[in-house]
Amino acid sequence: MRPLIFLLLVLGVTRPAWAQREETLSPDTILVNGRIVTVDAASSVRQALAIRDGKILALGTTAEMRTLATSSTRIIDLGGRTVIPGLIDSHLHAIRAAQTFATEVNWTGVRSLSDAIGRIRDAAKAKPKGAWLIVAGGWTERQFAENRRPTQAELHAAAPDNPVYVQLGYTWAVLTPPALAALNITSATDGVVTGPQATIIALFDRLPKPTLAQQIDGTRAFFRELNRLGMTGVVDPGGNNLFAADYQALFDVWRRGDMTVRVAYSLNGQTAGKELDELRSLTALLPQGFGDDMLRFNGIGERITLAMNNNDAPTPAQEEEYYQVVRWAAGRGMTLTMHWNSDRSVGRLLSIFDRVNAEVPIAPLRWSIAHLNDASPESLKRMQALGVGWTMQDSMYFNGDQLLARDAAAARRTPPIETARKLGVVIGAGTDAHRVASYNPFTSLQWILDGKSVSGASVRGPEETPDRVNALRLYAIGSAWFSHDDDTRGSLEAGKLADLAVLSGDFMTMPVERIGGLESVLTMVDGKVVYAAGPFTALERGTR
Ligand SMILES: [Zn+2]
Repeated sequence: MRPLIFLLLVLGVTRPAWAQREETLSPDTILVNGRIVTVDAASSVRQALAIRDGKILALGTTAEMRTLATSSTRIIDLGGRTVIPGLIDSHLHAIRAAQTFATEVNWTGVRSLSDAIGRIRDAAKAKPKGAWLIVAGGWTERQFAENRRPTQAELHAAAPDNPVYVQLGYTWAVLTPPALAALNITSATDGVVTGPQATIIALFDRLPKPTLAQQIDGTRAFFRELNRLGMTGVVDPGGNNLFAADYQALFDVWRRGDMTVRVAYSLNGQTAGKELDELRSLTALLPQGFGDDMLRFNGIGERITLAMNNNDAPTPAQEEEYYQVVRWAAGRGMTLTMHWNSDRSVGRLLSIFDRVNAEVPIAPLRWSIAHLNDASPESLKRMQALGVGWTMQDSMYFNGDQLLARDAAAARRTPPIETARKLGVVIGAGTDAHRVASYNPFTSLQWILDGKSVSGASVRGPEETPDRVNALRLYAIGSAWFSHDDDTRGSLEAGKLADLAVLSGDFMTMPVERIGGLESVLTMVDGKVVYAAGPFTALERGTR
């Protein structure tokens, strides 16, 4: 036997102790030559990061991380690019958006009405005659150069052989003649149906649902779309038009081990007066926190009882019914998130939380209020004292112009991000997509930083504008708090999950007006590449 082969055999079969030790500590992947914005407590920026078994092993200089590498370590040269923690939306109706993502027509971010109608025309060509074309929200006329909504005639001309349904938030929808005929609607002038919200929700429920196979395709495609935008996690608050039976596509993707976005989901009351019974039944075998790092049950909300939903003047009986549900949730150790719009009435909600807190301390349960764009310092102080967090969304990106016209002084502090931050309220960023907003986190981050609406109007002032690291913090570790995950993700620190995004531009230094155009060129979840583009495209094929 030749000495070299003999040596290789010896090394392969009985490895010396030093080599084994090195292997157990060696990273599977190192990222080098980057600008890694860790959002750790010191806001450190590092050059390089090592990953092993889905977790961050170490951070440091490129030279330091290279010394950890062995021959089996994959080395990814970032070429000076910026890396951020995987973004987490703390209030995204992701399960609902995912269900229909493969079958709906998407107007997110489209800047002209003619392009939007072009998407209807393209979809009509791609789909069989008679197939429904549905735009379920996520747009406003103010994003269009034409600054107006589509007419029934325009939509019908673009897709004469298909029923077309276009919804704007929860206030307005337009249907083409084939759509009206299919639903037996005879009373809509020019095909237009207007709110209240309940009317639009009921109308949407009459549209055909995608098949389970289409929902599964949609779920995979939507998660990939979020990965493309640097997202690795969502906290899902249930929502309108989403019933217990609608979770099967998500569960299918999870069961196959194909989740590329971590989902923490909560359950809603669905039937007026029966919410406590429903929630008891739904959660009898579903303890708070049940699941794994990819899919986890995160309690109840954002709708707890129908009677308290968007109700600024609840009766004592409605408050008592609500109290019974949330006291039950507290007793079961459940997290809770509550949709609330207006500061003038939120004291009613906080008083119920106070009452429960006297019996069961709620701070460890991480309850939260969603929206509350006009939160006063007094309400924020009460929330901070109770340990109640605030999920804050970019609704003013679509809707800031109206508030500006109505009350410029109020607009300037809406939402009061810096006041809340300085008071020590836990804040998670997000969008509330996809009916009432775009899901794009970079649209939202740009809005956090410049306070401007989609039309370009300056709405929020600099006194309520965080710096870039703090903005990122809200969208990462801030959001992670709401699903009890801030100790495992949301910042890039040794021991945390390797969820990160390499960006197409430098978030920290680029002109703020270009932040909305950022994308990820490499997204990792659990140290695995889930999305790669441009110079990193080959990495995705290699690992999945
Ligand atoms: Zn809500």
